[in-house]
Amino acid sequence: MVDRAREILDADVLIVGAGPAGLACALRLTQLIREHQEKGGGSAPLSPGNIYVLEKAGEIGAHLLSGAVLDPRALQELVPDFEARGMPIESPVIDDAVYLLTSGGQWKLPVNPPFLRNHGNFLISLNKFAKWMAVQAERGGASLFPGFAGAEVLYEGDRVVGARTDDKGLDRNGRPKPNFQPGYDIHAKVTVFAEGSRGSLTKELVRRLGLDRGRNPQNYSLGVKELWEIPPGRIERGTVIHTAGWPLSSRQFGGGFIYGLTDTLVAIGLVAGLDAPDPRFDVHNAFQQFKTHPWVKSRLEGGQMVRYGAKSIPEGGYFAIPHTAADGAILIGDAAGFLNSRRLKGIHLAMKSGAMAAETIFDALLKSEFSAATLGQFENRWRESWVRDELWKVRNYRQGFERGFWPGVMHAGLQLVTGGRGLRARYASRPDHEHMRRLAELDGGSPPKVKPDGRLTFDKLSDVYHSATRHEEDQPCHLRIADFDICNGRCVAEYGNPCQYFCPAAVYEMEPKPDGTGKRLKVNASNCVHCKTCDIADPYQIITWVPPEGGGGPRYDGM
Ligand code: SF4
Repeated sequence: MVDRAREILDADVLIVGAGPAGLACALRLTQLIREHQEKGGGSAPLSPGNIYVLEKAGEIGAHLLSGAVLDPRALQELVPDFEARGMPIESPVIDDAVYLLTSGGQWKLPVNPPFLRNHGNFLISLNKFAKWMAVQAERGGASLFPGFAGAEVLYEGDRVVGARTDDKGLDRNGRPKPNFQPGYDIHAKVTVFAEGSRGSLTKELVRRLGLDRGRNPQNYSLGVKELWEIPPGRIERGTVIHTAGWPLSSRQFGGGFIYGLTDTLVAIGLVAGLDAPDPRFDVHNAFQQFKTHPWVKSRLEGGQMVRYGAKSIPEGGYFAIPHTAADGAILIGDAAGFLNSRRLKGIHLAMKSGAMAAETIFDALLKSEFSAATLGQFENRWRESWVRDELWKVRNYRQGFERGFWPGVMHAGLQLVTGGRGLRARYASRPDHEHMRRLAELDGGSPPKVKPDGRLTFDKLSDVYHSATRHEEDQPCHLRIADFDICNGRCVAEYGNPCQYFCPAAVYEMEPKPDGTGKRLKVNASNCVHCKTCDIADPYQIITWVPPEGGGGPRYDGM
């Protein structure tokens, strides 16, 4: 950060992140303020214009990625007439199926597990949905600022008093360029952290205030996805298919998905736990392999890949949700871990958490009291709501898979009949990176590598091209490596530089050293699709993802 005079802006509420959680929070606040004003107000001078929403993407929705199958429960509560208001729906779900794949075959489950039944849900594009939500929030009067990242939390002591936005116009060495503009200091009575999975400010806040004390560590998967235009007649519009098994090994958590968005457009992807023991495991490569399965390939052949994206998914569940309020702050959505990994859904929980945060904040604004005790009512609210009921039933689900797929299936079955308990009241877990084993400890060969053919399968750079990712090249690197000596020495020998494999965007590359004495790490930061996997999976925990200059990153469209 360059030390310069900064403009200070004052807001009632600052929401960092315009995803489903942040936008639901903004929209609900505008509704409550309008109702309050219509009832004659009272003494508190509340204005929806004092609700600020920061979004690091240049356009609302451009950094959002999901399957996505939307459970409309929270949306129905928030915007009961959402269909009349033109909410973009690709298709209602009309059919769903679950398959177990082997390398050459597939077996359809005769009956779908109840948690994977999707009738009543909608197939959506999260990008389009967020844009629509943003319009609703703006109509209510909230102020949205796309292209501005939350770069730093502002504190007074341990009380959160706002956030600083990113400096614009710094060169790669951190020196101001002619177009330099210092970030704003936005002071707010309440700051809402809605940054999404592994939010950079959320991570720092949780550590500083110890908000994760007594909680399980968060566990993550990485999801990679492509959109394909395919000939008609391959997959019916509204079809939802989930797969388990190949190409993932029995030690791994995850599976594939194929969603028929229209009769000629499908979303296809693979999700895999970031707790894989083999440092050479590469989710992007496994996804390419998935598409070569004869049954999957027959659906894509003759089609064309049109979009690509990747994101991490917080799957730790109920026991991994940190304390969700502090003095001046509330945590919502993926940033807090409101996600049901058994149902493969989080949008509805993110929205509901945002709406309940808004109700808590509204009460706090009326009282002009923003302590952890007052904002902690959010914690009570969500624990007394259907959010808690839903998450409690799956409280041990993801942890049950720590020892692999089949033990996980056994635990999941037991949990299903015991209301989520399983063998123990609370399953423990470890951070994902602690599962990674050193090369010397591995048995068996390296995972198979797909040779991309450019038609069905693609290398990472071709896929990144289809994410429309763009960053200003001359800016400080937003992937902060604390010690390159570890990357170029210890990690080469111990883990074989797993960043080359787990990054789905070819950001990390081992290049020959100029003196010919081996290899060194090169960071191609401009490829980054902001999935946060490196921040999570690095075995030495020396990579820190921070937001690049606002507006940079992927430009997802229809994803
Ligand atoms: Fe994801 Fe990190 Fe690669 Fe960026 S550099 S795409 S955050 S793994």
